[in-house]
Amino acid sequence: MDSTIFAEMSALAVRTGSVNLGQGFPDLSGPSSVIEAAYDAMRAGRNQYPPGHGSPELVAAVVRHQQRHYGLHLAPDQVVVTTGATEAIAGAVLGLVDPGDEVVVCEPYYDSYRAMIQFAGAVRRPVTLRAPDYRLDADELEAAVTDRTRLILLNSPHNPTGRVLDDAELAAVASVATRHDLLVVTDEVYEHLTFDGRAHVPLATLPGMFDRTITISSSGKTFSLTGWKIGWATGPAGLVAAVEGAKNWLSYSSGAPFQPAIAHALDHEESFHRQLRDDLQTRRDHLCQGLDGLGFEVHVPQATYFATTDVSAFGHADGAAFCAAMVERARVVAIPTQGFYEDGSPDGRHLVRWAFCKEEDVLSEGLRRLQGVDLHL
Ligand SMILES: *Cc1c(COP(=O)(O)O)cnc(C)c1O
Repeated sequence: MDSTIFAEMSALAVRTGSVNLGQGFPDLSGPSSVIEAAYDAMRAGRNQYPPGHGSPELVAAVVRHQQRHYGLHLAPDQVVVTTGATEAIAGAVLGLVDPGDEVVVCEPYYDSYRAMIQFAGAVRRPVTLRAPDYRLDADELEAAVTDRTRLILLNSPHNPTGRVLDDAELAAVASVATRHDLLVVTDEVYEHLTFDGRAHVPLATLPGMFDRTITISSSGKTFSLTGWKIGWATGPAGLVAAVEGAKNWLSYSSGAPFQPAIAHALDHEESFHRQLRDDLQTRRDHLCQGLDGLGFEVHVPQATYFATTDVSAFGHADGAAFCAAMVERARVVAIPTQGFYEDGSPDGRHLVRWAFCKEEDVLSEGLRRLQGVDLHL
């Protein structure tokens, strides 16, 4: 398996002394009360394997979170704690998909989806979200389904496009899933990082959808603690048991002292992610206005850490060549979006993703460096 483009570009940023607007990790740590709670848990001896299902207090906090935000009433066996959303995705795909099954996935897609569908021996059926507005087309979704389709793997708010699926798109997914009796796995790690007052609506809250949906989230993005890798999957007990069954052979369990700390975060640090969302919106505007001023065609995101741009106006047909040139000329790292598309797909070739989950002065320095160079081919 290839190494991830994120790791490659971050290593390149370090090697070349570049401003890293590539990989999506925040410059600042999450809430200090949560870090203290992890210290406390370690000192209290929470240092051995936690239950594979998750520490009881974190499971209970996830139950309260889904109730408070979305009105979903979960029982403890409808939650499993995972090593980040990454392991929840792996567990869901490996636990729910058989070799030869087809998985419908929105392209561009997060890179682990492709790896996990391959590990499961399944077949990808991409449905492309096209620039500039990246809407999910109901007819294309319908057309991607065959009698071999097992599940739809959805991501909203969406990385890398920053789209938040609206009511009509969610209803289209629900309609296709129901009519074809499909499962849906939804990756909602950016659930709290939506902008301009836009609300994220979990697919599982639509009529009839809870029973066929695994909902995945993680504390990494919500609390700026991406290195702790505490995530979870929720859904009907039978599907959660399948995810947990696969997960038992992945990590089994992890993050003993971090689990109670994240329980504390979910219960007591909502103000942190509200503030983070507002800060990110300001930074989005800073980065997008700056890139726009440099002549980029900017696709302003509705959520997440990322903005995408079309670099064809500069004569670049290839985002990867553009990113290589920017490291060379400006010492700024961005991510070519083509890695999120099928090999050779024309849709993402000319797109580049920029992370704005960085300090204001890092964004300013990145923009200043870009201003000083020729962006044309
Ligand atoms: C960051 C990210 C993940 C990974 O989440 P972890 O909790 O760090 O494993 C999964 N999906 C998307 C869309 C992401 O951007």
